[in-house]
Amino acid sequence: MAEIVIKPRIRGFICTTSHPDGCAANVKEQLQIAWTARNTKPDTYRVLVIGSSTGYGLASRIAAASLYDADTIGVFYERVGEGKKSGTPGYYNTAAFHAYAKDKGLTSININGDAFSHEIKQQTIDQIKAHMEQVDLVIYSLASPRRIDPDTGEEYRSDIRSIGDVYVGKTIDLNKEFITEVTVEPATEEGIRETVAVMGGDDLNLWTDALLNAGVLAEGARVVPFSYIGPEVTYPIYRNGTIGRAKEHLEATTAAIHLRLQSKIDGAAYISVNKAVITQASAAIPVVPLYISLLYKIMKESNVHEAPIHQMVRLLTDHIGPGQTPALDEKGRIRLDDREMVDAIQNEIDRLWPMVNTDNFRSLSDYDAYKKGFRQLFGFEVDGIDYDKPVELETEV
Ligand code: NAD
Repeated sequence: MAEIVIKPRIRGFICTTSHPDGCAANVKEQLQIAWTARNTKPDTYRVLVIGSSTGYGLASRIAAASLYDADTIGVFYERVGEGKKSGTPGYYNTAAFHAYAKDKGLTSININGDAFSHEIKQQTIDQIKAHMEQVDLVIYSLASPRRIDPDTGEEYRSDIRSIGDVYVGKTIDLNKEFITEVTVEPATEEGIRETVAVMGGDDLNLWTDALLNAGVLAEGARVVPFSYIGPEVTYPIYRNGTIGRAKEHLEATTAAIHLRLQSKIDGAAYISVNKAVITQASAAIPVVPLYISLLYKIMKESNVHEAPIHQMVRLLTDHIGPGQTPALDEKGRIRLDDREMVDAIQNEIDRLWPMVNTDNFRSLSDYDAYKKGFRQLFGFEVDGIDYDKPVELETEV
């Protein structure tokens, strides 16, 4: 155990260090935002979040606990801090969330390991049985570049590419900070197959069956995975690309799971299409950081800006929280991207997209907020934190 001064070490869309106090402050802020939306709370609310340590999963866990005093079980895959090497931010986020839950007397169970494996599914079931009996809601929020098939041992790697044609598009070089053209060769059939195997619905199927067969889904339980559609400028690389193929598979799988849950436990499964936000996963997709930089500026100017916590509060209070009936689109999906996708916002994106270049991207877009938001994911540039003060990196959950 040693206290050290920790600074950001960033390359492109990766930061290899993180700050425990900054991560804790982020969690605290999200807890407060959700707290202001508190209304009636049920007697018990038990939530399993798969991918609970960062981004949308973390925000959903925080929202459930803060809005409804939910008991939560979180599954995540994070590096623990050791000596002078910091852990990944998800670990510090989880530690901060756990401290809050403990303080409020809420059950908080944390499982750090590969959610794609049978072992972690079984551990999760055992912990639910031991501490909660059953869960009322399952949020599925994994984002991963790889998955090992738990039955065959085959390793799949997602390959984010267009399908059919070479893709040429604008993107921000996050290292050198200029607008550049990115050329992406189209995916191979194998690349498409592997991306679907990582980010499609196969693992959600395995989770749902394991939870159902173990009897840990409560009567009426809901299962909610996340998807994204986005604007036309990202279609070739996102919705019509390999990742879009995976999301289509996830959406089709969810529709089938919905029927299974309905007949067995009077339950339901709904895709939630969320808006584009700054997370570690979204930073890794070409074009998306530039789109988000433009989107944040336009949505802020229109007073409709939302971060993950606002989206997850809305998901629970308007759609899937206790007693709520979700509003669905024609394909049966919850649309939290409704404010992002309105014509007024998207027309502005279409207007700015051809104009944005290296000379003007800082004024046309909210790139500075993107950059700050990205650093904040790792606990840096958070207001009120003294970054010259040594901190302990070996936090226990
Ligand atoms: P994120 O990178 O912030 O979070 C990913 C989570 O998955 C983390 O908790 C991480 O620990 C966990 N994880 C990854 N691999 C794991 C493994 N093998 N075992 C256990 N846990 C593992 O990602 P995010 O952006 O919040 O994405 C979550 C979901 O939301 C994804 O389905 C994504 O497509 C969707 N989504 C994201 C956006 C966006 O703009 N970020 C928009 C719409 C939908």
